[in-house]
Amino acid sequence: MSDLMDAITGLAKRRGIVFPSSEIYGGLRSSWDYGPLGVEIKNNIKRSWWRALVQGRDDIVGLDAAIIMSPRVWEASGHVDSFADPLVECHDCHRRYREDHLPDWAPGVAAATLRCPECGGRLTDPKRFNLMFKTHMGPVEEDAAAVYLRPETAQGVFADYRTVQQSSRMKIPFGIAQIGKSFRNEITPGNFIFRTREFEQMEMEYFVEPGTDEKWFEYWVEERLRWYLDLGIREEKLRLRPHEPDELAHYAKAATDVEYEFPFGWSELEGIANRTDFDLRRHQEFSGEDLTYFDQEGDRRYLPFVVEPSGGVDRAMLAFLVDAYRVEEAPKASGGTERRTVLGLHRDIAPMKVAVLPLSRNEALVPEARRVFDLVKARWMSDYDDAGSIGRRYRRQDEVGTPFCVTVDFESLEDHAVTVRERDTMTQERVPIAQLARRLEERLN
Ligand code: ATP
Repeated sequence: MSDLMDAITGLAKRRGIVFPSSEIYGGLRSSWDYGPLGVEIKNNIKRSWWRALVQGRDDIVGLDAAIIMSPRVWEASGHVDSFADPLVECHDCHRRYREDHLPDWAPGVAAATLRCPECGGRLTDPKRFNLMFKTHMGPVEEDAAAVYLRPETAQGVFADYRTVQQSSRMKIPFGIAQIGKSFRNEITPGNFIFRTREFEQMEMEYFVEPGTDEKWFEYWVEERLRWYLDLGIREEKLRLRPHEPDELAHYAKAATDVEYEFPFGWSELEGIANRTDFDLRRHQEFSGEDLTYFDQEGDRRYLPFVVEPSGGVDRAMLAFLVDAYRVEEAPKASGGTERRTVLGLHRDIAPMKVAVLPLSRNEALVPEARRVFDLVKARWMSDYDDAGSIGRRYRRQDEVGTPFCVTVDFESLEDHAVTVRERDTMTQERVPIAQLARRLEERLN
């Protein structure tokens, strides 16, 4: 792993952002737990997405479908037959790889010419390995009771499409958005939280009239790119990559990935796909239910086409962390400079918005500091830290991205004002406590 990835995983563990799951038992490779700060970042990502796609619009509604669905869903969607990656194994060391993740792989390269990256041994011919996690429902472990953990949230939307459309009286074009866990038995998980076997997706299926799908596809590609930019990701680290016709998924007519330049290279953050009417057509066929939409104005029925932006919460979080991380020289109060680590996270993504720091634990100061803390925590996720020197406490907040530190000192008892220090510029300003909430609101909301 690169130095930057090492620095991020180290910081993430040290500060309780993300760490290996069940570590007291040695961990489970590819499973990660989100600690007190990590869960805040993750919730903020999901909230920002929901605000942009559901709350802020009148053409998209939300859904929370079950993870375990009828197995017929996965037969109809094509996942039972086609949701597979090419698995190769080394004849010598028996390590397993996803063929298209091998360093020497390129489209059209013959499997026989590839070698094991670890020992140089010959590799087996690729086998199609289905990525779905299969389990049994109820007390009998027989094939009739087999179910799958969903490998994407989208199928819950397709299966519920008619009920949602009718109950919410949505008219085409409209969308159904969903955030939730998905599971894929990835052959080669890795790169921290970039590729795991259990992850969260933010997906939206946008139902449109056939013939307007290409226009909506372009629209959603631009919208989704803008979401990352609006949340502060550097423009030069983002790019759009249209898929070649031979890489398209079985259901897609066109697809474009939003890619981020991670320390391990340009990789997919989110995919926008034109899924045509593939999914609804298949569900109509397999269920025998009429899933057509009645267009009152045109007085006709049709199966809508679907444009889908599909992003990963965990991948987005990794991109936000990598993009925001910096180490810089900062002036010291006592003169000279010192190194400080800063997570320059956008205010909407930062886990804590405000930290209240009493200058000391002196009895006279505590009630005033607690009053200030009560005032800010009623509105924003806030931290109260009274341990160590003020300088050290600023550094602790900087490295987890807290935009504002509010220091309560002895003068506060006289002038009823506090010092507000901003993370990026490190400028400090004296603000009357009576105006504190309004002043922070101007800069945080
Ligand atoms: P890849 O080619 O990297 O395996 P994919 O093209 O199969 O990904 P999609 O099916 O388009 O991925 O999934 C949509 C989004 O879900 C991805 O852009 C990614 O953000 C997220 N995602 C998919 N698989 C994983 C995973 N194993 N771990 C974390 N996030 C994932």
